[in-house]
Amino acid sequence: MNFEAPKYQDHHEVKSKLIDPFAREINYLRLSVTDRCDFRCLYCMSENMQFLPKKDLLTLEELDYMCSTFIKLGVKKLRVTGGEPLVRRDIMKFFGRISRHLETGLLEELTLTTNGSQLRRFSSDLYKIGVRRINVSLDTLNEEKFSKITRWGRLSQVLDGIQAAQDAGLQVKINTVALKNFNETELFSITDWCASKNLDLTFIEVMPMGELGEEDRKSQYWSLRDLRKKLEENYSLHNLEESTGGPARYVRVEETKQKIGFITPLTHNFCESCNRVRVTCTGELFMCLGQENNANLRDTIRKYPNRPEELENDIKAAIDNKPKGHDFDYSRASIKGQMSRHMSHTGG
Ligand code: SAM
Ligand code: SF4
Repeated sequence: MNFEAPKYQDHHEVKSKLIDPFAREINYLRLSVTDRCDFRCLYCMSENMQFLPKKDLLTLEELDYMCSTFIKLGVKKLRVTGGEPLVRRDIMKFFGRISRHLETGLLEELTLTTNGSQLRRFSSDLYKIGVRRINVSLDTLNEEKFSKITRWGRLSQVLDGIQAAQDAGLQVKINTVALKNFNETELFSITDWCASKNLDLTFIEVMPMGELGEEDRKSQYWSLRDLRKKLEENYSLHNLEESTGGPARYVRVEETKQKIGFITPLTHNFCESCNRVRVTCTGELFMCLGQENNANLRDTIRKYPNRPEELENDIKAAIDNKPKGHDFDYSRASIKGQMSRHMSHTGG
């Protein structure tokens, strides 16, 4: 895969770790490479989204430079997300180039979260460059409901993409947003389908990200506490101790042996073990998904293309300000902690 010769210096050595004020080691970066998407999921985007002008986005080269700097500072896991990462033009060049850090061992895992629509096209290249696990979002197995929830998506294309990914050797985890009055009735069919296809499964509670026009957040909200209780009517669930430093808690299903995760940012506090930060496609570094404060890395990247220490200093200073936790709460009449930005902006 071709990639223009980088004008930025490369790094080969981890200089120091990123430790925040609460002694949490930051070694996981989630990077949104675009705010655009070929779907318009009801809980994520409004139908007429205003997307960012191209000049505001970090170029592929700038993304590489920035990620390489994070890796130099101790990031070991990089998850690429969006928007839909696989609709960004030439994104495979970025993947191909960043995979050099897998070869050196500085980066331990390169992965992505995708809606699955482009997986038929890209799965084998992703595998070739070293991606081993991916997350695919899928909220229903019913074709009509799929068109309704994604507005623009086709279920058959996503199912075909998942098959292509598995055929290419990628381990696929399904992410399903729990939505009241939408996929409640599919809880068991989705779980059984994942078990039959050897797919791990994670349920996500809907989060208050971005204004959605007609969609009422509270009417979408289905607590994972309720979902888990319902699952327990049919299955025996055993808690697993493992933690990824993120908001997911896992169980093993005795009957099917599959692993199921629950991401419950609203009913479970996971902040103490948070090991991650997020960067948007415009280079804003968010220390917490649920807080507004951020650092603008793009200005530094563009101002000092040959002085990596400037970017390192900005990143370290931002980590020194990582907040203790977030403040989402659905229990009040108005949603406390509501975030003005969309999930597609920060990357889920
Ligand atoms: N387009 C890709 C996809 O759908 O997987 C990657 C980006 S998407 C923003 C990442 C994840 O965020 C998806 O699993 C999606 O279901 C989830 N998501 C989007 N909006 C959400 C919200 N308001 N609450 C909870 N999860 C959300
Ligand atoms: Fe696109 Fe993913 Fe948001 Fe759906 S959840 S609109 S696929 S970014």
